[in-house]
Amino acid sequence: MILIVGAGPIGIEMAIELSKRNVPYRIVEAGSTASTIEWYAPGTEIFSSPERIAIAGIPFEPQTRKAFREDYLLYLRNVVRQFKLPIEHYRRVIRMEKTSGDKFAVSLAPSSHGVGGPLEDADRPETYSDIETFEVDKVILAIGNLHVPQRSNVRGENSEWVSHYMGEPHRYAGTKVTIIGSGNSAAEATIRLYHVGAKVTLCHRQDGFRPKKVKPWLAPELDNLTKEGKIQVIPNFHLQEITRTSVRGLRRLRDLRGLRDLEEGEPLSIDSDFVLLLTGYRQKTDLFDQLGVTLIDAQPTINMETMETNVPGVFVIGTAAAGTEIGGVKTFIENAHIHVTRVLHALDLIERVHAAPDRPVDEREI
Ligand SMILES: Cc1cc2nc3c(=O)[nH]c(=O)nc-3n(C[C@H](O)[C@H](O)[C@H](O)COP(=O)(O)OP(=O)(O)OC[C@H]3O[C@@H](n4cnc5c(N)ncnc54)[C@H](O)[C@@H]3O)c2cc1C
Repeated sequence: MILIVGAGPIGIEMAIELSKRNVPYRIVEAGSTASTIEWYAPGTEIFSSPERIAIAGIPFEPQTRKAFREDYLLYLRNVVRQFKLPIEHYRRVIRMEKTSGDKFAVSLAPSSHGVGGPLEDADRPETYSDIETFEVDKVILAIGNLHVPQRSNVRGENSEWVSHYMGEPHRYAGTKVTIIGSGNSAAEATIRLYHVGAKVTLCHRQDGFRPKKVKPWLAPELDNLTKEGKIQVIPNFHLQEITRTSVRGLRRLRDLRGLRDLEEGEPLSIDSDFVLLLTGYRQKTDLFDQLGVTLIDAQPTINMETMETNVPGVFVIGTAAAGTEIGGVKTFIENAHIHVTRVLHALDLIERVHAAPDRPVDEREI
């Protein structure tokens, strides 16, 4: 018996391939189908081209050039129904260990949400009861890597008016919002909140947005809104404190990342009703730790030809294989499809890998 943990796009794709070959497996998911995508803000545009995130040969053809979160969730739900996938929703793997007999002992508990997103971050530890334990021969971890936010660790970060998730934009209409971050999430939130009538200030640590890191169609709009004075952008900003009415920090003369004199600069206080800290997310590593999968630079140790880890019988696929990605995301749905093919090959379910080898994806392509 194989256990797939996680029913995001790549876990689903793996399950379909095992179903097609009548391989016995279970697939468990702590939340709903594709719970990571569920927690994106409503109306988020998916930057990958639709055909590149289609799975199992089922066309994904939304009405617009780029799909929205809602289109992709609908598509994934329909794929799951079409293949009658036996996903056990709201079941979280809370513990996993290798047994002396080379099997894996798994503890599974009812769960109220997926691993990741605002509910996971709510600082309300889940209590587990009705725990089911069972053994499997192999484990495929498709657990994703956006589980908890990268925290800023400044005073005020845990206040109710501060969030690491944009959520419903309408909530911010007519308010003053300060957004901290320099990636796509921060750029997109700035534009969307401006359009619902928020007064937005975007602060980031560098001299400016790095064009290669931001979706190509967002950069010109951000530039125009800044030039027209419709949003305010504050580069070289070092966040120090969040109060009920303001964001406080230092505006440095230039990008001093990596240097020690972080405390030098001009003190700045930005009036704010709400603060969004969109500074990225990291992966939870408890399952890796329990299984003995070693991490190097926050990335699980994997043979990239088979996706098997340093623990024989444990495979990691999808964005989970990238670990916590710092300084740029390189693993997406579109370059993770091949992970499924590699596992099938490693399990002797296909003769050889036909797909092209892994390659980094240039964000401009997607
Ligand atoms: C705003 C936003 C926009 C994005 N846009 C894109 C995009 O355009 N293109 C793209 O490729 N990527 C995008 N991403 C990243 C995207 O979310 C991932 O690429 C995609 O979800 C990865 O699929 P996956 O199957 O590898 O993992 P995920 O979709 O993250 O699925 C992992 C699943 O595992 C479950 N899980 C984890 N641990 C356990 C456990 N212990 N027990 C049970 N279940 C567990 C989780 O609940 C989750 O449902 C975006 C991310 C954000 C935040």
